[in-house]
Amino acid sequence: MSHDAVKQVLKEYWGFDDFLPLQREAIQSVLEDRDSLVVMPTGGGKSLCYQAPALCRAGVAIIVSPLLALMKDQVDGLVACGVPAAAVNSTHGSEEKRRVARQVEAGSLRLLYMSPERLVTSRTLDFLAAQNISYFAIDEAHCISAWGHDFRPEYRALRMLRDRFPNVAVHAYTATATEQVRQDIVAQLGLRAAEVLVGDFHRPNLVYHVARRERGLGQVCRVIDRFRGQSGIVYCITRAEVDKTTTVLQAMGYSVLPYHAGLSDEERIRNQEAFLKEEADVIIATVAFGMGIDKSNVRFVVHAGMPKSLEHYQQESGRAGRDGVEAECWLLYSGRDAITWKRMLDELPAEPRAAAMASVAKMEAYATGVRCRHASLVEHFGQAWTRGPCGACDVCLGNLAYVEEPLILGQKILSCVLRVQERFGADYVALVLVGSEEERILAARHNQLSTWGLLADHRKQDVREWIEQLVQQQFLAKDGEYHTLSVTPEGRRLLRGECTPTLLQPAKQGGQQPSAAFVDSWDGVDRGLFDALRNLRRQLAEERGVPAYIVFGDATLRDMARQRPSSPAGLLDVRGVGQKKLADVGEPFLECITAYCQEHGLSQDQSRPAVVIQPIVETPNANAVQAFPLFDAGLNVEQIAERLGRAISTVLGYLEAYIHQRRIADTSPWMTADEFNEIAAAANKVGTARLRPIFDELDGRVGYDRIRIAVACLANRNSHAHASIGEA
Ligand code: ADP
Ligand code: ZN
Repeated sequence: MSHDAVKQVLKEYWGFDDFLPLQREAIQSVLEDRDSLVVMPTGGGKSLCYQAPALCRAGVAIIVSPLLALMKDQVDGLVACGVPAAAVNSTHGSEEKRRVARQVEAGSLRLLYMSPERLVTSRTLDFLAAQNISYFAIDEAHCISAWGHDFRPEYRALRMLRDRFPNVAVHAYTATATEQVRQDIVAQLGLRAAEVLVGDFHRPNLVYHVARRERGLGQVCRVIDRFRGQSGIVYCITRAEVDKTTTVLQAMGYSVLPYHAGLSDEERIRNQEAFLKEEADVIIATVAFGMGIDKSNVRFVVHAGMPKSLEHYQQESGRAGRDGVEAECWLLYSGRDAITWKRMLDELPAEPRAAAMASVAKMEAYATGVRCRHASLVEHFGQAWTRGPCGACDVCLGNLAYVEEPLILGQKILSCVLRVQERFGADYVALVLVGSEEERILAARHNQLSTWGLLADHRKQDVREWIEQLVQQQFLAKDGEYHTLSVTPEGRRLLRGECTPTLLQPAKQGGQQPSAAFVDSWDGVDRGLFDALRNLRRQLAEERGVPAYIVFGDATLRDMARQRPSSPAGLLDVRGVGQKKLADVGEPFLECITAYCQEHGLSQDQSRPAVVIQPIVETPNANAVQAFPLFDAGLNVEQIAERLGRAISTVLGYLEAYIHQRRIADTSPWMTADEFNEIAAAANKVGTARLRPIFDELDGRVGYDRIRIAVACLANRNSHAHASIGEA
């Protein structure tokens, strides 16, 4: 079986042109019947590795998956692509089970999903022994290892597959595996001469940020506002926090629903479905949410509290941007989070407790660290970072500015720790430094210390942040139950000026640089058309009773809004459109594209850009970013088009990206106030969903270019208004 055959299958059923990194090798082992273990980060495209080869072989592939939701999701997705796949599980009646059994016997089913419990019953094993099984694929294989973070005892029984089916290959897949877990998976499953393939853990389309949590929900609201109408997840540590956050956000008019183990099964399922169908934008959840959620177009994941390990953080934040399109991951933490975790872990027996405490400490080191976030994560998973600045985290994007005189600042803080005789915690020391007149400080007469108010022109939360950074860099230590601060030997050297700390402070709002992935994802995309296609997708998904992303992923819609095909052949050329979907939903999408283009005077059948968005983007396309400094310098669209040798319409797209990314609300560089007011009044009257009505409302006096710019700025005005509500 050649790769050309698999490639053909890839194109015909999934509409993909090529493999993602490592998929080729992983598929090769399946075709060669060689046991394998494939480790790829979330979004790396693991499922295709065991799905595609099933179509190139006779017999049925048995896919073992831990959760019903996960199975259902994958089967729905496969059926929508025209792949003969099914699942059997406890929710199916006996009639349904018999129907599936007949399909297996007839050899018409290519993939059959089941849980490990069901697979290892003697009834199932006896049935399968008489069938033509092409291979076994074990998804979420780390569940077999007690060293992993999600051990499931029922996985252990899978060992018997090796003995019962000695001639059938077994393939294991996981997103999180340290070396120890990897070896354990191979041993527990009894894999023979297994091909072990480990993917690149770098996810360049995820933009990582870390910030100290402020009071209230302002930070969370600002992220949601930036992704208005799109999907996201907010993780809280406790159920109570989930409930509280949900109530507040709902009262503010946000489309959010809660999810945690304390809700009834019914409510949990309902909320999850609403999220998948995009009836609700955001899920507020504990860690109970997410395993088995394959939704590919999650645009942001906010952790409103620090998770208990980097494994959890990587997995949960990794649920963003599986489609390879840019997504944001925010970690909002407070020093209290680690204390909360340590208190919860206290109940564990000594041995697991020590390991769990070490995990919390590593997580905290990430939160307070000053290294590139991508580099930190990749290295934690045992891979060397050789890429230089990532261009997609707060550190590398320069959202964190370096403090100008870190040595002096560090010395001020350390001497205050000494002045209070190393008997107080970080909060207290910060209060003394900013010159607080709190009762307890006056009572201790610490307002008479020479270090009192030494940092009075800084915010307390910034000082607090620097203390954490000094702890992380081992100039300060935290001891005992109360986390009392003391100066370490290294700290003494700092006081003598023999070494210098690295201290960062959060940059002012608005200094955000666009990330490379963002620009790549929107390059050439008509935003209005993208929105129209999203609406159509929602409508079609509702009619079919499936989650919206099963119809098409965000990356596919963007590609459509970029290429704007006018014919079925053109639509097939869009990444993610295969034969079955063309037949099912091709027509309404083509109609929508053509109608929109006619209405807005856009040309169709644009050729594909040289750089296609893929989940792993090695050399990001920085075209639009090049234009940003020129906009900053006040050049107009025509000048920039000439300077960069691009079409005016392309530069207008860059301008829209620029306005969006910088959240610009002021239109004065591009039009007079009168012009803007006129457009705004019209938009107010007829809405901003489409530009044509605005154009008509103005009797064609104002060109589409200006309307587009004005509407983009208007959106930012609205979201500024939201943000200020959020901060109140
Ligand atoms: P994982 O299970 O590893 O988290 P998925 O199998 O869910 O990843 O795939 C992640 C995303 O990548 C999905 O949206 C999928 O459609 C897309 N994808 C997978 N393989 C390819 C490919 N060869 N070309 C383009 N997109 C792909
Ligand atoms: Zn970085």
